Amino acid sequence: MHAADPVRLAAELIRYDTTNPPGGEEMALRHLAGILAPAGFVVTMDAFAPAQGGTVTTGRASLVARLPGTRPGPALCFAGHIDTVPLGTAPWSVPPLGGEEREGRLYGRGASDMKSGIAAMCAAALRMAGEDARSDMVLCVFGGEETGCEGSFHVARDPALLDLLRRVGAVVVCEPTRNRPLLGHKGALWLECGFTGRTAHGSMPELGDNALYKAVDAVARIRALDFGAPPHPHLGGWTCSVNTLHAGQNTNSVPDRATLRIDIRTIPGQRGAVMARKVAEAAGEPGEPGEPGEEVEMGVLLDIPAVWTEPDHPWVRRAFGLLAEYLDAPPGIESVQFFTDAAALRTALPDAPVLILGPGDPALAHRTDEFAETAQIRAATDMYAALARQWCAQAG
Ligand SMILES: [Zn+2]
Repeated sequence: MHAADPVRLAAELIRYDTTNPPGGEEMALRHLAGILAPAGFVVTMDAFAPAQGGTVTTGRASLVARLPGTRPGPALCFAGHIDTVPLGTAPWSVPPLGGEEREGRLYGRGASDMKSGIAAMCAAALRMAGEDARSDMVLCVFGGEETGCEGSFHVARDPALLDLLRRVGAVVVCEPTRNRPLLGHKGALWLECGFTGRTAHGSMPELGDNALYKAVDAVARIRALDFGAPPHPHLGGWTCSVNTLHAGQNTNSVPDRATLRIDIRTIPGQRGAVMARKVAEAAGEPGEPGEPGEEVEMGVLLDIPAVWTEPDHPWVRRAFGLLAEYLDAPPGIESVQFFTDAAALRTALPDAPVLILGPGDPALAHRTDEFAETAQIRAATDMYAALARQWCAQAG
């Protein structure tokens, strides 16, 4: 059956345009459902419809598929996302939605991030569907990851799907890692601070209240903030960077509105809500002694927790032993820079160990002429199937 060929399946997935925004993952997911359901998977489509620029877009969805096991025990979950980032403005030297194979490379948007990973995990699961002894498997193919894990957080809020996820014992997130198993990543907390003042003619600034000055003063206080948490031994320290400032409309008016956007990367144990409050307190203008200060408007644009699994977790140790056979150098204590859907799964499954492991190169993600080595896609399929068999042997 051709669907079990992961390179071919990855090429088919690349030909579906799942650029996000606007998303439109549903057609690609229906293609996967059409392959998985006949092989015995119970497939659920989870539609979600976030607003994009004020209008609600259609065709947004995630897919959750369960392959019932022949043995009791918790399920092994493979997860990833089907949406891709826009093509960029630079011209491609290959058709970006062509899924063309050239000299051992599969080209196209999503080849590395992460349609090859999705194809490999589906192909591995289809192999397992043909085996007599197997544990439960759950495949999660999320939409909306690139704009903040919208699909995975939506799945984690659905009572029936949450019930299914709670039967998962371990998770493999198939993001591109050049097939190296990684143990986690930092979280992301994106904030927007709004400052309001009063406009006036630029020749009489004393009649106004300059919102830009408030924002600039706040930047200095936010820069000096200490969130207290000591660096994580493997992920490093938290970071906080004020990355945009928008204020003013013309040269000769005092601006009455200013906004800042702040990108905070968090480590395990830090809580977004607590940190956002701390930033709001720092950004607000301190009052005179005995007087209340001026508050800012604080918006949380994204709050994704950090993910980390200890390398001495029993499943990780067993998995590393197995995966070493497929790798040039044995797995070590490694992490990844970008965030993944593991963060949403982490909220549903606080105790399940998570590995991030997939074909493709993270350095090629989001780039022009993105590709994945076809040998890596096939090796990842073998690694996923081996992990599923090991999981089953351990359950049995
Ligand atoms: Zn990705």
